[in-house]
Amino acid sequence: MKEKLSITDLDLAGKKVLMRVDFNVPLDKGGNITDDTRIQASLPSIQYVLDHGGAVILMSHLGRPKDKRNPEFSLAPCAKRLSELIQKPVIMAPDCVGPEVQNLASKLKPGQILLLENLRFHRGEEHPGEDPQFAKQLAQLGDVYVNDAFGTAHRKHASTATIAQYFPGMAAAGFLLNKEIQYLGSALLSPKRPFYAILGGAKISSKIGVIKSLLTKVDALLIGGGMAYTFSKAQGIAIGDSIHEDAFLDEARAILQGKDASKLLLPQDQVVVNQLNNEAVPKIVKTREGISPGYQGVDIGPETIREFTAKLQNGATIFWNGPLGVFEISNFAKGTFAIAKAIAGLRATIIVGGGDSIAALQAAGVSSKISHISTGGGASLEYIELGTLPGIEALSDRSVQGVKR
Ligand code: AMP
Repeated sequence: MKEKLSITDLDLAGKKVLMRVDFNVPLDKGGNITDDTRIQASLPSIQYVLDHGGAVILMSHLGRPKDKRNPEFSLAPCAKRLSELIQKPVIMAPDCVGPEVQNLASKLKPGQILLLENLRFHRGEEHPGEDPQFAKQLAQLGDVYVNDAFGTAHRKHASTATIAQYFPGMAAAGFLLNKEIQYLGSALLSPKRPFYAILGGAKISSKIGVIKSLLTKVDALLIGGGMAYTFSKAQGIAIGDSIHEDAFLDEARAILQGKDASKLLLPQDQVVVNQLNNEAVPKIVKTREGISPGYQGVDIGPETIREFTAKLQNGATIFWNGPLGVFEISNFAKGTFAIAKAIAGLRATIIVGGGDSIAALQAAGVSSKISHISTGGGASLEYIELGTLPGIEALSDRSVQGVKR
């Protein structure tokens, strides 16, 4: 992939910088922001523009308003929080396109911040092909374009990809996007070895591509969580009522018989239960013995925890995505927490993506020890799999290095 233009390559003085950020924050029932990590993560790029004489026009989506205006999904709470964090007024636009917004944008002075209303109030955001005018209308608001929304960079949406064509030579990556690319890119292209990856989560279907891609790059791939049972079933092992996907048995078998199969570490034992709650009496079952009907695997067992922890000890680069069990139920969270604690104690470059793994790190109180917590779970997996993302591809190439535009 060619190196992409960065925000620091742009001459921002007097410019209106149209910046795609990820303000898709969790809100409680009263519309209060319960975690502002994503807003905080966008501050360096916003501050940089202000410090360099530009004005900022921010755009984001929030939730899934299904192409309709819905006050429940308004970005107004983000305007308020951003204003508190950056200690400056933030003008909240009534929409993201249209004459009123154009008027607000045209009057914007250097040092000012305008936040556009939720992009997903318009169908053209997620379906740019159906409404090409939408990206064009957004583009008309700014002089240069910056994408700092890594979490949505795997989507080919109007504000993340299509829009860049209207800014030839002036579509750049923000600091957050750059940081994500730097960490994930170095893990991908030139990892310090041994390089170990840990994948968990419910379904093999959503991670099959990344499993195959990682197997060619890592020294070992440790697999836990629900997806391990499709591998067990593919080996003819009884899995009881454990989660699995029959449609992926052939793929799983091909991986198990493939040239990188020796790098795969599957659980040797698991915690099985006959009901999915904390009242269940857990049993530890060796994988090769199989799981009886009426029972399902919900966590990796103690032997697997020991084996995985021991394997990780000499890791120099670690990538982790997905819980190793049904960690939302405290009795089945031991494996996930054990891995969180094990990697946090290592002197390694540690990259963690995915909401569940991040929640596990936070619950274990070890997030501060992780080199890089990715702001995009899906995006980080797709980047590892494909080596690029639509939102990165769309940016201008950095052909003339060090030259301000
Ligand atoms: P994903 O979104 O694919 O990363 O999956 C996350 C979900 O996987 C979490 O909600 C976990 O509860 C679930 N999960 C992990 N291990 C298992 C398992 N053994 N059986 C069922 N669900 C699981």
